Amino acid sequence: MNLNDYLKEARENHYATGHFNFSTEDVLKAIVAGAKEAGAPCVMVGTSEGEADFVGLKEAVALVRAVADDMQFPVFLNADHFKSFEKCKEVIDAGYDSVIADGSKLPMAENIAFVKQVVEYARSVNSAISVEGELGYLKGSSEVQTKIEISSADYSEPEEVADFVAQTGVDRMAVVFGNIHGIVTDQEEKLDIEHFSKIVAGGTLPRPDGRGEPYYVLHGASGLKDEDIKSAIKTGITNIHFNTELRVAYHDKLKEEMTTMPNETTPYKYLGPAAEEVKKLVITKTQLFMGKLQNL
Ligand SMILES: [Zn+2]
Repeated sequence: MNLNDYLKEARENHYATGHFNFSTEDVLKAIVAGAKEAGAPCVMVGTSEGEADFVGLKEAVALVRAVADDMQFPVFLNADHFKSFEKCKEVIDAGYDSVIADGSKLPMAENIAFVKQVVEYARSVNSAISVEGELGYLKGSSEVQTKIEISSADYSEPEEVADFVAQTGVDRMAVVFGNIHGIVTDQEEKLDIEHFSKIVAGGTLPRPDGRGEPYYVLHGASGLKDEDIKSAIKTGITNIHFNTELRVAYHDKLKEEMTTMPNETTPYKYLGPAAEEVKKLVITKTQLFMGKLQNL
């Protein structure tokens, strides 16, 4: 089964597949172990452009294959928010399973042309590669911030999403309906589920390539209430990006280790507990995405 097959299964059974970022091998293993332990059918792991530069594309592909093989669990590697055709081509050539061609900052026509080019290239290499596009203004970055102005003017417009999907042929759509990247400390993060349901209703137009409706992706799940995440899944989200809280968990535990054991110089001894925190959080979030914490 390829990634799109797993997403189809998720949509039919009303759960969501988790997407978690990594830039080190210990975090990658913690994510995969956590998803497996939580009973997910598969997991998506991502590298942003910065994370991919740090890990290396070939290294990321080799690591993911080795971990998936070792743990006997399906792991799909995604290039998270890649912003140029050249960058997207590089990851496709390196063997990534998936790419987010993020042209959301471009005017609509340019975004469509860019994503269409990536979709065509990906399909020419391997039809199993899943491509995601993004519409709307997803504010924030994957860190802790104090406040971000969230406005409905930044939301993905339902008609534009339907048009975008029809013209580009993307498999997945990242949409904006109140979500932001990162965590904000001084305000409540809230999803506009009613707006999202309009996007889903508008996206059922027939597509010329026969691939059917796109899979909707929720970015920026860190900081959202469980109830909001459950409602989003119920309304049609089949893939959820969860990153910032993992980074915070890893960082905080590592800081604690460095403070309590300042003379410990063996890396696996001070990194191990930090990765364990990541695993615990992946288990909790995956159970939520699977609808296991409480029946959806
Ligand atoms: Zn994102």
